[in-house]
Amino acid sequence: MTGNRTLTIIKPDAFESGKAGQILALLEQEGFRILAARVLHLSRAQAEEFYAVHRERPFYGSLVQFMTSGRCMPLVLERDAAVATLRRVIGATDPAEAAEGTVRRLHAESKERNAIHASDSDENAEREARFFFAEADIG
Ligand code: ATP
Ligand code: MG
Repeated sequence: MTGNRTLTIIKPDAFESGKAGQILALLEQEGFRILAARVLHLSRAQAEEFYAVHRERPFYGSLVQFMTSGRCMPLVLERDAAVATLRRVIGATDPAEAAEGTVRRLHAESKERNAIHASDSDENAEREARFFFAEADIG
């Protein structure tokens, strides 16, 4: 991993309703290159660990429930300024506050069921990529 890579997850709301293709097309149009991809159904333990930073938040239980409600699609993406650019492209956490043309404005159902995750720092991008992928998967 370098500063030009980030980790995204197409969340179960978007993946299970067949929006992965449209979302990947938007990300590619924004200049991201797909370095690694998986489709998996997170276990409760995996979802709890991935979102452990939010353990004390009131929405934690519901978030874990949602993230385990169906398959999701983690990907490692590459472009310059990957972390900051992807955060801009996905939009605000709540789709009602997300800018026009962002993934969440276009595809999210609600503040919780918000279509996509993106790492919020280079350090977290590295950690989150390691959560889903081996070094050899990323290349
Ligand atoms: P993500 O980390 O998934 O990219 P984010 O950084 O925009 O999203 P966080 O504050 O890290 O937002 O929250 C993680 C996820 O928890 C959100 O994407 C959303 O699915 C859920 N979430 C956050 N705040 C709320 C809330 N107030 N009510 C319900 N769900 C929430
Ligand atoms: Mg976050």
